[in-house]
Amino acid sequence: YKVKYAPFKDEGNNIAGLIIVFQDMTNEHKLDNMRKEFVANVSHELKTPITTIKSYTETLMDNGIDNETGKMFLTVIDNECDRMARLVKDLLQLSNLDYKKTVWKKEEVSINKLLEDILLKLEFAFKNKNHKLELNIKELPDIVIDKDGIEQVILNIISNAVKYTEDNGTIEISLTDENNFINIKVKDNGIGIPEEDQKRIFERFYRVEKGRSRELGGTGLGLSIAKQIMEAYQGQIVLNSKFGEGTTVEIKIPYEKV
Ligand code: ADP
Repeated sequence: YKVKYAPFKDEGNNIAGLIIVFQDMTNEHKLDNMRKEFVANVSHELKTPITTIKSYTETLMDNGIDNETGKMFLTVIDNECDRMARLVKDLLQLSNLDYKKTVWKKEEVSINKLLEDILLKLEFAFKNKNHKLELNIKELPDIVIDKDGIEQVILNIISNAVKYTEDNGTIEISLTDENNFINIKVKDNGIGIPEEDQKRIFERFYRVEKGRSRELGGTGLGLSIAKQIMEAYQGQIVLNSKFGEGTTVEIKIPYEKV
């Protein structure tokens, strides 16, 4: 606790008492720690690709590397650059969300069409892992939303389902509406998330398995961005998971009919 105090006086200017303020520091302390942890995470995430790029370029600069090996090295460097670009893009987006600088465009959108487009973008990923897609889609009237924001949330969630499910998995996607909400549910029968990790899963950079996430090209920021976008929308995002059985992520978007 931080303690501050000041005397107060009555009408006759006599000291009548003392005001004492106890300020709870635990929250401030927590925030400070979170900030430090965040900077440490960002530095670490950037350090890894930089180290790789540096060592590969150094080897390339040595003479005696044949063309084929050289190409292979360049591919690695290219991939690491892409990783850094993804990370910086996600960080910038989080920073914009933090400073409320994101400009929400409200436009008339068919959520059915939006979902279709997203699935088209992920078609290759689905085929690549031979996942089965089960759809339960209700035809909904157009709504007014920020298309890019919602698209990113849905894309993140479905690509996580694809990524964290072993080959030949099943991913169920449903689109319904209830009361004043649009409800999108993405259910996979993938690796699942251990219970002790579930409460931290929306934190920035929190990952169950760092190695696996990295290998799959993840930044560890997808779910935290999704959560922040949903909050800005007064929407909800809820994750339920059973380790070894699968995960369900549900988002609820408040309805603004056209
Ligand atoms: P990442 O870029 O690592 O995928 P996210 O923020 O999207 O970052 O997700 C955070 C972590 O949550 C992932 O690293 C993974 O451990 C876990 N996760 C997310 N979605 C799923 C899912 N559908 N099944 C299993 N684990 C998941």
